[in-house]
Amino acid sequence: MSRVDLEAVRKRFGALDVIHGVDLAIEDGSFCVFVGPSGCGKSTLLRMIAGLESVSGGTIRIGSRPVNDVEPAARGIGMVFQSYALYPHMTVRGNMGFGLRATGTSRAETERRLQRAAGILQLDSLLDRKPAQLSGGQRQRVAIGRAIMREPEVFLFDEPLSNLDAELRVQMRVEIAGLHRRLGNTMIYVTHDQTEAMTLADRIVVLRGGRVEQTGAPLELYDDPATAFVAGFIGSPR
Ligand code: ADP
Ligand code: MG
Repeated sequence: MSRVDLEAVRKRFGALDVIHGVDLAIEDGSFCVFVGPSGCGKSTLLRMIAGLESVSGGTIRIGSRPVNDVEPAARGIGMVFQSYALYPHMTVRGNMGFGLRATGTSRAETERRLQRAAGILQLDSLLDRKPAQLSGGQRQRVAIGRAIMREPEVFLFDEPLSNLDAELRVQMRVEIAGLHRRLGNTMIYVTHDQTEAMTLADRIVVLRGGRVEQTGAPLELYDDPATAFVAGFIGSPR
């Protein structure tokens, strides 16, 4: 019920064509990774799914409902960005709960969700801290916690680990994989990191210049890359 479908989706910024007609069927509960070099349109595609960018052509459906004209808050998505986007003056508790009040969620329900998300992400002892008192990994956990609090049908991640050092990136990657196993939601994850793509994805979408170059399971792409570009990007032996 929370599959995501893109049909002939296009994006134009003024005279610049950025996404050239993308068709994708993302299965309910799958972990789908968009990969491709910088500037190929990964973020733009994700932001259109989130409703943070308008669609210039085609249709996006979330759980079979067309959402082109649905505002972001009503799309049933939770988004995690590279730059945590936390409010510096608010505690972890405040950051994670922020925005829920506006959706009509009661105080008691917000607290229930907070305890659950904090438990999943091991943030229990940090709830009264401010972002400046947290490590990079802890901040990113708070950002993920905020998305969990919305109990979205679909999680969208845009290079969430790019600002972390190598060791922490590996640790958080394992945590995100665990989160997917535990919650079972559809997750769409943007990265330019081939290792993240290969280890996290059920299905990889390789983007190049605003077009889908190939999609498939990680090993399918590795063993049978359609083009030299895919082989180079996925790291297949030639
Ligand atoms: P990626 O996330 O794969 O690095 P982006 O989706 O950010 O790529 O960008 C794709 C292309 O769209 C780039 O050429 C970028 O310069 C352009 N672009 C992105 N956002 C805007 C914008 N708001 N206005 C104009 N061009 C944009
Ligand atoms: Mg990007």
